[in-house]
Amino acid sequence: MSETGTHPAPIVIAGAGIGGLTAALTLRRAGHEIVLIDKAKALSEVGAGLQLSPNACSVLDGFGLLQDLKALGHQPDNLRVWSGKTGDQISKVWLGSYLLERHGQPFIVIHRADLQGTLLKKVEATDGITLMLGTALTDAKTGDAGNLVCTYQTGETTGTLNCKALIGADGVWSTVRRLIPNHKNARFSGQVAYRSTLPIDKVPAQWRKDSGLWLHKDSHLVHYPIRSGEQLNIVALATEDWQDETWSAPAGKDELLHRFKDWPTDIRNLLNGPERWLKWALCTVKADGPWTHGQIALLGDAAHAMLPYMAQGAAMAIEDAAELANHFPVETENTAAALRAYERTRKPRAERIQETGFKNAKTFHMSGLPATARDMVMKFSKPESLAARFDYVYGWKPNQALPS
Ligand SMILES: Cc1cc2nc3c(=O)[nH]c(=O)nc-3n(C[C@H](O)[C@H](O)[C@H](O)COP(=O)(O)OP(=O)(O)OC[C@H]3O[C@@H](n4cnc5c(N)ncnc54)[C@H](O)[C@@H]3O)c2cc1C
Repeated sequence: MSETGTHPAPIVIAGAGIGGLTAALTLRRAGHEIVLIDKAKALSEVGAGLQLSPNACSVLDGFGLLQDLKALGHQPDNLRVWSGKTGDQISKVWLGSYLLERHGQPFIVIHRADLQGTLLKKVEATDGITLMLGTALTDAKTGDAGNLVCTYQTGETTGTLNCKALIGADGVWSTVRRLIPNHKNARFSGQVAYRSTLPIDKVPAQWRKDSGLWLHKDSHLVHYPIRSGEQLNIVALATEDWQDETWSAPAGKDELLHRFKDWPTDIRNLLNGPERWLKWALCTVKADGPWTHGQIALLGDAAHAMLPYMAQGAAMAIEDAAELANHFPVETENTAAALRAYERTRKPRAERIQETGFKNAKTFHMSGLPATARDMVMKFSKPESLAARFDYVYGWKPNQALPS
C-alpha cells in the first residue's frame, strides 16, 4: 500500500489490544485506511476482569457496542469497601444507577476477553481496516519522499509498509516507544497482582452482586462478577519483589495463601477456591515522557502504563483513541502537528490519573494510625460524595472539555 495509485497511504497501528482495536475504529471513522498489526498469532486474553467506567463507555457507545458489552459483563450497583484486617465493611460507593444518571453511561465490569472479542468483531466487520496477526512491528524510518516506512516481521518474512503515520499501541514493553528520542522506559513498580476467576456459585452470597475492595497492610484485594454474573473476578495485589524472568507467571496457591495469611478466613477461603492463579509484575511508564516524534505517536500503556489502582489503564487507552482521531481527520496536511496536538491534549489527564493511582497505592496499603484515620474518613463520607470525587474521571466525554 502506498500513496501512489488509487490507494492512499494507511495509518499503521502496532498492537491490537484494547487501545489498538479502539484506535482502528476511531481513525477509520475519521476517514483513514488502517493496517492493524499484532505480533500475537491469535488475540486471546488470559482470565482476568476489567472495570469499564462511564468515560470509556461513552467512546464504545459511539460504535454501538454497549448492548453487547452489558450482556457479556455485569453492572454492580455499589463498590463496598472492607477492612482486610477486621473483615468489617468500612463504606460504600455508589456505582450503577447513580453513575448512569450522573454521567449518562453505565459502569460495566467485564472479562477482558469479552471486551477484546467485541472490539475485534467490530474491527473485522469494518471495511478499510486490514488486520495482520502474527506480525511484529520492528522498525520505522523516514523514506526519501518524506513518507514513513514501517518494517515488520511475519514468521521468517520481513516486509515493509509505506504509511502516513505509525501509532504505537503495543503495550508497556512497546517497540514503537524506542523509536522516540528521550522516551521513558517501563519500570517495575514493586507491586504484583495475583489474578483468577471463580464460578459464582462457589462465592458467598454477599459478594455476588456488588464490587468489593479490601484494604490491608501492604496489600489489597478487588473482586467483582463478570461473564453475565456467572463468575467472580479476583485480583489480589501486594508489595512484593519480582524474581521471574518474564513479567507474568503461574502462581502457587500456597505462596498466595502465605502472602495473605493475616487476612479474614472468608477471604482466605475465597483465595483457596480457584485451581489456577497467574501473577503479574506491575510495571509503569511515566506519562510525562514524549509520546510523539514526527509521524509516530504512542497510545495506551505504551505511552503511560499505570498502576491499576484507579482501574483506568484500558479506559485511558480508549480515551486516547477517541482523542487521537479528533485531532487527526483524514484531510490533515501536517501529520506531525496533529499528533503533537493529540499529545498536548491527552498528557495532562493521563499524568493526573497516573499520579492518583500512585497515591492510591499508598492509601490502600496503609497500616496503623494512618489506616485507622483513612477508614474513619471513608466511614463517615456519604456514598454519593465518595462517587462524586471521581466526576473528573467518569464525566469525560469524547470531544468535550474535561470537567474540573
Ligand atoms: C491487575 C490489572 C488490573 C487492571 N484493571 C483495569 C481496570 O479495571 N480498568 C482499566 O481500564 N484498566 C485496567 N488495567 C489496565 C489495562 O489492562 C491496560 O491499561 C490496558 O489493557 C492497556 O491496553 P493497550 O491496548 O494499551 O495495551 P495491551 O493490552 O498490552 O496491548 C498491546 C498489544 O500489542 C501487541 N504488541 C506488542 N509488541 C508488538 C509489536 N512489536 N508489534 C505488533 N504488536 C505488538 C501485543 O501482542 C498486545 O496485543 C488493569 C491492569 C492490570 C495489570
